[in-house]
Amino acid sequence: MQKPKSKVAARSAARAVAPRVRAAARRPRYGQAEVREIFRRFAVQRPEPKGELEHVNAFTLLVAVVLSAQATDAGVNKATRPLFAVADTPQKMLALGEARLGDYVKTIGLWRNKTKNVLALCEALIRDHGGAVPADRDALTKLPGVGRKTANVVLNIAFGQPTLAVDTHVFRIGNRLGLAPGKTPEEVEAAFLRIIPAEYLRHAHHWLILHGRYVCKARKPECAACVIADLCKAAEKTGAIPAPLVELAPLSADGAADEPAS
Ligand code: SF4
Repeated sequence: MQKPKSKVAARSAARAVAPRVRAAARRPRYGQAEVREIFRRFAVQRPEPKGELEHVNAFTLLVAVVLSAQATDAGVNKATRPLFAVADTPQKMLALGEARLGDYVKTIGLWRNKTKNVLALCEALIRDHGGAVPADRDALTKLPGVGRKTANVVLNIAFGQPTLAVDTHVFRIGNRLGLAPGKTPEEVEAAFLRIIPAEYLRHAHHWLILHGRYVCKARKPECAACVIADLCKAAEKTGAIPAPLVELAPLSADGAADEPAS
């Protein structure tokens, strides 16, 4: 029978192991080939992913994203559809004034503050950018109500830049799968940007959001319907794991399988 170790011996053994444990924690959980395969499958599943916020130009996209903080895309679309029909430029939006703009967006949470932000945003766009939306993160984040996430969405969707906006879904997937762990959205963004192959960066933001919204859900991930289940190393992975994807019917943006062509 082994003698119990003294406290001193146990402490020194723990000290010897600690650097190895820390090194293991720092080691990426996925190899390059696995990461590439994950994004390849997302690309097969949704070759042309689209955001779900309705807009008609870069300006209305910017307004929609500002309005969408802590609100659903569907709720924002319901309010902005009639709004953008009458105000699709900063000048027209300003001309509405606070009361009329408020009437359009009052079904959206935090609408009073958002109304003020949108009007201040329009003033700044006209004053500093001739009424155009700048395609530059620093310039965008200087605008009222525009943070890094909003700027990244606009740069990606309106200007085709390979930015990655970290919302609640992207943050959860980065940490849950251990693909891009981080304590803040900035850390998760940086971690994803380090691992995503360049050719997949343009659409990675949409793929991750749609995957989080419709499959890898916060409370109950639908692992049995997940196209990367055999690659996923999340502790929460549950249920039967489907065979690796060979032929996969493309999904529409809402996650439903497209009808096969007749
Ligand atoms: S297997 Fe489950 S936990 Fe892993 S990515 Fe898919 S849905 Fe999420």
